[in-house]
Amino acid sequence: MRFLPARLLLLLPLMLTLPASAEHHGGGGGKHYEAIEVSEDLYMLIGRGGFLSGNLGMSVGEDAVVLIDGGMPPSLELLNKAITQITPEAPDFLINTHIHGDHIGNNTVFAESGAHIVSHHTLRSRLLEQGLNDQPADPASLPVITFAEEMMFHLNGAPARIIHTPAAHTDGDAMVAFPKVNVVFAGDLFFHGLFPFIDLDNGGSVDGFIAAQEQILAMVNDDTKIVPGHGELASATDLKRDLTMLKDARALVAGLIAADHDIDAILAANPLAKYHDDYNWGFITTERMTRTIYRDITGM
Ligand SMILES: [Zn+2]
Repeated sequence: MRFLPARLLLLLPLMLTLPASAEHHGGGGGKHYEAIEVSEDLYMLIGRGGFLSGNLGMSVGEDAVVLIDGGMPPSLELLNKAITQITPEAPDFLINTHIHGDHIGNNTVFAESGAHIVSHHTLRSRLLEQGLNDQPADPASLPVITFAEEMMFHLNGAPARIIHTPAAHTDGDAMVAFPKVNVVFAGDLFFHGLFPFIDLDNGGSVDGFIAAQEQILAMVNDDTKIVPGHGELASATDLKRDLTMLKDARALVAGLIAADHDIDAILAANPLAKYHDDYNWGFITTERMTRTIYRDITGM
């Protein structure tokens, strides 16, 4: 059993200076992570009061503390506060769902406090080759256990399937399914109620993203709790709705491309206008979603 290292504990007094009211009323502007227990000793951690990072998962039990994604550096103190409210032990494993900094930005910190980092092969090779956020990758941030298609964790009484889906959000994606307790951590294969970021520059593709969501839907039922990479805890119905939107969005843009429209004409036609109110957000606007689909189809 290991405990959080002194350097993290030193941060605790800082965190505790947050006003208690802000902590208890997330809408009041106090940033914090809310821990939602999706099954016994299995948590979704979601940022409140502003953007903190992608959603995280955590399994706690007799065998190990397993983190699914580790957030990003500016929110590390808030994340450690949420973790220490659940367990005094430092994570033993940190699963990286994909290469983006808002999910794996704290790899080094967790590795140095004893976590073994796990990812798809491609995430590790990309991290080595291209670094993260334009910086060379810290050697400590590199995954030490990697896999190709699927691997299993047999811990805490709830086996976990870690499953790769090819060329979807990136080309190194992993989702984590806990079949026994009917929970799936989708990582950024699911942006609940938001236009999804499909990272073409890191090997993602629209068709692969659609296939990944279909793969998740094939594994779940009406009672499954699906933890998206961004957005609120979701159900299969929620995922179906977003998948239906994306398929339609792709078809609408593809139809205009087939009719010889260039990107300017397509943006002017605004084929995704009907989805704007429900799915547009700061990072992936309706225009950016349209551009992503266009580039994915045409290569331009
Ligand atoms: Zn991402």
